[in-house]
Amino acid sequence: MNHSAQITDTRTSRQPLPSLTGGVGGGSSVRAFLFDMDGVLFDSMPGHAYAWAKVMTAYGLPMKEEDAFENEGRTGIGTISIFTQRYWGRDATEEEAQELYRRKTIVFNEYMAARGGEAPEMPGAASVLDKVRARGLMRVLVTGSAQQSLLTRLEKHYPGHFTPELMVTGDDVRYGKPNPEPYLMALKKAGITADEALVVENAPLGVRAAVAAGIRTIAVNTGPIDPQLLADEGAEWVFPSMAALSAGLEDLFLEIK
Ligand code: MG
Repeated sequence: MNHSAQITDTRTSRQPLPSLTGGVGGGSSVRAFLFDMDGVLFDSMPGHAYAWAKVMTAYGLPMKEEDAFENEGRTGIGTISIFTQRYWGRDATEEEAQELYRRKTIVFNEYMAARGGEAPEMPGAASVLDKVRARGLMRVLVTGSAQQSLLTRLEKHYPGHFTPELMVTGDDVRYGKPNPEPYLMALKKAGITADEALVVENAPLGVRAAVAAGIRTIAVNTGPIDPQLLADEGAEWVFPSMAALSAGLEDLFLEIK
């Protein structure tokens, strides 16, 4: 099977890439991979999408699960307002947003409790991390999530890959994605420039944040959205899954020489 055939190469419609100083692992300027977490390392989006669609639709705001994937990374009130604008012609009030978000959280927690309480690992993610480590490259986590148990959970599923010094979480940032802030902060923590990093993201708004930080971005379309949405935000490569990225990683390393 030709893995490269699964890749949507979006660069034909773009400006030429700035040239690098060498190949990865052989004097390359790439020193780190910056990983988003939800929808990249853990398959956590289906529960959120289910809860959003169920609660919003019951409230008179028809929302599909796919819509939740497209809006991943927005704040609760930001997501709700997209639909109140569409159906009611106005933003959500603070009270409506709080009520809807409260209900969404209940449905989400029920969904997760029925499935062992924890989102499963994303298939292929461990393989990608291992290949990145084998190249001697840093792994940096950049997530909007702010759970206290984050590091414990990462260590349980992906032992030895992440350290607190190389993590940017929802607690660290003021604005969050799609603002470039979290990715700029990650570069600072890793002590590298934008040219020395690659980002792995699954959400259009996450891609937007990474591209706004000036970092070349690999999108993995682990949800049901149109891959063109990821390309349109500026992802240079779009893979259909983390497993496909793992299979295509050697070619990608050669390509960015
Ligand atoms: Mg994500």
